[in-house]
Formats: sequence, structure tokens, C-alpha cells
Amino acid sequence: MQARDLYDLPWSGRCHCGHIGYEVTGAPKFVFACHCTDCQQLSASAYAIGMLLDSEALVIDEGKLSEYAKTADSGVISRQYSCGRCSTWLYTAKDNTPETVILRPSSLDDRAWVRPVAQIFTDSARPWALLATAFSLPGNVEAPERLIEAFAASDIRPSTLK
Ligand SMILES: [Zn+2]
Ligand SMILES: [Zn+2]
Repeated sequence: MQARDLYDLPWSGRCHCGHIGYEVTGAPKFVFACHCTDCQQLSASAYAIGMLLDSEALVIDEGKLSEYAKTADSGVISRQYSCGRCSTWLYTAKDNTPETVILRPSSLDDRAWVRPVAQIFTDSARPWALLATAFSLPGNVEAPERLIEAFAASDIRPSTLK
């Protein structure tokens, strides 16, 4: 079966004000919650939700993105892209992994189905914000293959398929 059918692609998404629209044209690798302190600050919440995609699977249709780059504690330059008008955080790109991007999937038009298979950086999690995910990792993802397999085998699919 093609990923297109498994996930009912393409998907559409947009920022809160609607200035930036995008499409997702390729299958997600996995969805995760990140409790790192950068994500806590950037999301203004306890953790951020991320969906790992091939870079070419995220197609920005319209609008001007604003870019903010900062070197993380790991030494990697991490670039955050958000709407230049309403500041909705849309995705993250890391200079050491140009082949993938991390979509912030709360901006998907159909997002109610999105659920993480893993939580990462639990070492810096707020104790009350820990999730009942299949994988709980104290730091970063070391073996993405396991998460990719678990996500593909899960029932986490767009609501249009249910
Ligand atoms: Zn906007
Ligand atoms: Zn993070």
C-alpha cells in the first residue's frame, strides 16, 4: 500500500491568521512530544509536539515565513519557522539533518487524530506533564528506526480514514 493511501495525503495546514498555508505530501515518520527546555520556551507550554517529515514533503504554498536560528546545547543550529504576522510556530529545521524537518502538527487543518508515540527529553519534563507514550526517552532520539516502526504499526491515522 502506498503511503499516500495509508495517510490520505496530501494534508493542508495553516497558521492561526491564515497568512501561511502549506501542504504535507509525504508520509510522517513519527510524532513525538519534546520536553526539552527550548521546546518549553518556544511553545510557551510544558512540551512541544513534533512530526518528523522528509524535507520535500513539506510544501509552503503562500505567505512569508519568519526564521529564527539558534545554536542548541548540542551545538546544532536549529531554525524555527513561524508566521511573520501571527507568530504561529510551524516547523523546525536542523542544520545537521537537512533531509528532515519537524512539523508542528497543531497547525494541520485535520489535527484531532495526531498523537505522539514517544516523548523525549523527559529529564527536563514537568512531572505533571509526562505522557503515557510507548517510548519515553530521557534525552534525544538515538534510534529513530524503532519509533518509525512503532508509528507505522500504530493506529494513528487521519480522521478521514476512520
Ligand atoms: Zn499567521
Ligand atoms: Zn525540544
